Amino acid sequence: MTRTIAIVNQKGGVGKTTTSINLAAALARLGQRVLLIDLDPQGNATTGLGQRRGQREVSLYDVIVEGADLADAVVASGVERLSLVPSDMDMSSAELAIGDAPDRVTRLKTALNTYLSGLSAGFGAEAPDYVMIDCPPALGLLTVNALSAARSVLVPLQCEFYALEGLSQLLKTIEVAKASVNPQLVIDGVMLTMHDKRNRLSDQVADDVRTHLGRAVLETIIPRNVRIAEAPSFGKPVTDYDITCAGAQAYMRLGHELLRRHGKTKKGAF
Ligand code: ATP
Ligand code: MG
Repeated sequence: MTRTIAIVNQKGGVGKTTTSINLAAALARLGQRVLLIDLDPQGNATTGLGQRRGQREVSLYDVIVEGADLADAVVASGVERLSLVPSDMDMSSAELAIGDAPDRVTRLKTALNTYLSGLSAGFGAEAPDYVMIDCPPALGLLTVNALSAARSVLVPLQCEFYALEGLSQLLKTIEVAKASVNPQLVIDGVMLTMHDKRNRLSDQVADDVRTHLGRAVLETIIPRNVRIAEAPSFGKPVTDYDITCAGAQAYMRLGHELLRRHGKTKKGAF
């Protein structure tokens, strides 16, 4: 059974892409087959994994706008068990292109379901255990497409003063997606990231968020860690760049925590 997770927060720079890449890579290390879809026109998950945009003749734009096969847009990532659907330059006009279509919020869901049922019927590669979707910093049509396609949502929050700002609007959007197109949608959790142990504000924010959101907050906290910030310039997840650093270890813990939450057991050794 494939589980699809959308990594969502309309706030910019909170760690969505960093979490998409490194959680995907951590789960792959734990033996899971993972497909990462870079739904953000900025293409940071694509370049962060050392991949070029527009590698395939069929792009994610073609999939969402023209109804092309998702299978034809999938590439290898350089990380074992992790494949990628790269973003491409055209993605910035995708929302406009599908804006009037009656099925505009379910384009990605349809493409993904067709792809996954093809795989489980034995065409091509084995079906992934996880699909992760890195969303752009907005609550527009692309993010709504991710919320329609996903089984669950992971919300990264940066440990800074305005962490909770905009969260109520995000929760409302999730509720609307649930009520209209995706009744099964659940929130996997809110995860705290860029925690700076030398900064007391970081702890205070973490405490505040736990007081407000209780059990919705995942146990694992991702520290602010320079190796995490360096890794994308080498085109690698931090787990491949430096598995011993505090950042890589935290993403491995996050991978374990999610597997536990989903009742899945790790397949590989770590
Ligand atoms: P956008 O909204 O633009 O898509 P985002 O939410 O995807 O941004 P990221 O690109 O993941 O955010 O992170 C923003 C910046 O913070 C990047 O430069 C990234 O390298 C850095 N960063 C993210 N997490 C960490 C961390 N734990 N430690 C150090 N730097 C981090
Ligand atoms: Mg991003």
